Amino acid sequence: MDEEDPFGLNEEIKIVIFKCLDCKGTDEVPEYIIGEFSVDKNNSEEVELHCPHCNGTMIEARKNPK
Ligand SMILES: [Zn+2]
Repeated sequence: MDEEDPFGLNEEIKIVIFKCLDCKGTDEVPEYIIGEFSVDKNNSEEVELHCPHCNGTMIEARKNPK
């Protein structure tokens, strides 16, 4: 196991903004969490998260410009 520091003490944690398709709410998600969700997917495939506000579907906001 080449385990990396999970708390990123020596480097900035990259935050990705997710936007809800249903309630349009946003959430800031650390990139390492997204990595866990995308483990079964191809890199080109979107990661979907559950919205903490309405339990809808959230996707990366940057892939959906306003
Ligand atoms: Zn929502």
